[in-house]
Amino acid sequence: MVFKCSSCGSCMTYDFKGDTLKCPNCGNTDNPDIEYDNKENFDLCPICGGQLNLGKYGSAVKCGYCDSYVVSDTRLGGDNTPYRIIPTTITKKEMFELLTKKFGKYLCIIPEIFSQSRLKEVIIEYVPYWVYRFGVRAVYNGVVKESVTTGNTTVTDTYNVSETWDLDMGNVPVDASDRMPDEILDALEPFDFKKGLDFKPEYLSGSNSELFNHDSDFYKEEASYKVCDCVYEFIDDRIHEKFPHAVNITDKKLRDETIINMRTLDRDYYLLPVYRYSYTFEDGKVLDYYVNGQTKEIYGTAPISKKRLWGAIAAIVTAFAGGAALITTFLMLIGGAV
Ligand SMILES: [Zn+2]
Ligand SMILES: [Zn+2]
Repeated sequence: MVFKCSSCGSCMTYDFKGDTLKCPNCGNTDNPDIEYDNKENFDLCPICGGQLNLGKYGSAVKCGYCDSYVVSDTRLGGDNTPYRIIPTTITKKEMFELLTKKFGKYLCIIPEIFSQSRLKEVIIEYVPYWVYRFGVRAVYNGVVKESVTTGNTTVTDTYNVSETWDLDMGNVPVDASDRMPDEILDALEPFDFKKGLDFKPEYLSGSNSELFNHDSDFYKEEASYKVCDCVYEFIDDRIHEKFPHAVNITDKKLRDETIINMRTLDRDYYLLPVYRYSYTFEDGKVLDYYVNGQTKEIYGTAPISKKRLWGAIAAIVTAFAGGAALITTFLMLIGGAV
């Protein structure tokens, strides 16, 4: 489908700040004229009939012939309808301003790299993600050594530690696009899921988007590894809280001495905003830039913080109080139990 301006006939795009479709040509926000997909040939542009570059999973794309923004109402129906979408909070122009600030050193080599004339090459992608929620039981059994030095004397104490935690870990995202590079998307996390909106097709007008490439089971293992990393981080923090002078806690020790059981409580299909821009030098070398369209995190030099990730995905932490196991059906057994 294409959202045409009822005043001048241009293609309207979604303006999240104003929460409305808006004509970039005349500024009109009134009801659009909607041209729906050609049901027999949904991969043809509803405006000019040109072949759309939708590929196997494309659900929103700009027509290469008439520049209309086409949102595929055929592809986005039924089970392929996203549950929620996180809107972008920045414009293409603001994205370039962020990049200029961060990568300004390139400007003396290639003055036009972030110039207005290149804005049209910036693409906003609504990337398909599966977002999981897991119920996790983490059991730590190990020996903690604590050393305290006073003057020339060092006293080392040894403790047997046995603790169990039940954790509810939600908002665990895994991108469901084969085309987008996983390591870059991981570096752009986290997203703030509280800002998600119920999906409407007009949100995609002006952007590129894809359907999930595989169902949620396909990505579940990847999600579980993300959760395990956060759990080890969590236990590390708990041990250091209790034993501030612990000297023998290593990543390997934590992994060897922790048993993690988890089950999937929920999973939902989201679209999350990522800006993409590539600059190609004459010798063919390519500079790629990616920006989280919500948090403005830039791919390139910004390091990922595991602590931030932990804060983002841990909803509830319940200290284990004994008694019957709360979690009886374990879909996955990871860590020391394998
Ligand atoms: Zn208009
Ligand atoms: Zn067209």
